[in-house]
Amino acid sequence: MLKGYVPPYNATVVQKLLDQGALLMGKTNLDEFAMGSGSTDGVFGPVKNPWSYSKQYREKRKQKLHGENEDSHWLITGGSSGGSAAAVSAFTCFAALGSDTGGSTRNPAANCGVVGLKPSYGLVSRHGLIPLVNSMDVPGIFTRCVDDAAIVLGILAGHDPKDSTTIQDPIKPFMLPNLTDVSKLCIGIPKEYLVPELSSEVQSLWFKAANLFESGGAKVIEVSLPHTSYSSVCYQVLCTSEVASNMARFDGLEYGHRCDIDVSTEAMYAATRQEGFNDVVKGRILAGNFFLLKENYENYFIKAQKVRRLIANDFVNVFNSGVDVLLTPTILSEAIPYVEFIKEDNRTRSAQNDIFTQAVNMAGLPAVSVPVALSEQGLPLGLQFIGRAFCDQQLLTIAKWFE
Ligand code: GLN
Repeated sequence: MLKGYVPPYNATVVQKLLDQGALLMGKTNLDEFAMGSGSTDGVFGPVKNPWSYSKQYREKRKQKLHGENEDSHWLITGGSSGGSAAAVSAFTCFAALGSDTGGSTRNPAANCGVVGLKPSYGLVSRHGLIPLVNSMDVPGIFTRCVDDAAIVLGILAGHDPKDSTTIQDPIKPFMLPNLTDVSKLCIGIPKEYLVPELSSEVQSLWFKAANLFESGGAKVIEVSLPHTSYSSVCYQVLCTSEVASNMARFDGLEYGHRCDIDVSTEAMYAATRQEGFNDVVKGRILAGNFFLLKENYENYFIKAQKVRRLIANDFVNVFNSGVDVLLTPTILSEAIPYVEFIKEDNRTRSAQNDIFTQAVNMAGLPAVSVPVALSEQGLPLGLQFIGRAFCDQQLLTIAKWFE
């Protein structure tokens, strides 16, 4: 729909970077309209993870495949902002922007071995970011270390008259202190995040990280986020409903693609949208319109909004009980080969891949994925820290201590 489209104005985040003298190198690939968790459903084709070409991984792969063509076993970057993660991971740039509605910055960051920051909802302007789910979207930041993420966040954060959801309070510069003592911290480990699908490598890394905090003197406690199991289905109802509404603006008149049909305006709209959207986008528009039908609105959309509140309150309760940050996995495992990933459809894949990330968006909290170690195959593994709303600086300070 927007192939080759050049917007007539800059997003606030882009303008802020330009104002600070940043050099913008280009646009990065992603799933169409940021709908996905693999960066495999974009109009420019899938994004390849640079780690697919690491020596260690290729050698391990060769041993495993016994002569099969190992080139066909390249790895996904995760998504949806996979191009940005790949660009930073391959050392082509200092930092990159993405978006995070259900995990699209943290997920590819974990897959590609870089830092992926989802700021608090309302801290960074969404003006110029194409909306996926307005009530959850935030611009995300990819860097190679936590300090760099803080530098970029310091530039981007702050009130924007063009985005009424941005906070009014003046933003202090994000300079991260060097934390030397973690003994006053309380780290929460949500028990619902220990799911059977979690790979043993990520699980043992997660527990090791908790032990590290404990040996630094921090209090590490198990906590409960009881509504976690509803988060995937709740996200799907809310996401598709907002998508149905948001995508209505792409009608062939104002933006991008227009189908060359002159029978009637309605026929032009229909043909343009038929041609311009991929199946994932079309599927979400249909699902969302179903949930928004008069007879379904109460039972689906309103119900999902209530469940969202319960999910958000789970986090509030945990933080009110004295927890400073939550420590969780970011994704289930190391990056997987493309051929494995596409065995499931987009909806199932998103539901499986976003289980540790999407509740955070429903609660509007800041979260960061940090690369921690390499797997047995030599691929990066990441963990996620989730902080209190607008305590982005504290979150990053703790992540930096751990890094
Ligand atoms: N995987 C989720 C989805 O497809 C999240 C996407 C995102 O954060 N942009 O909706």
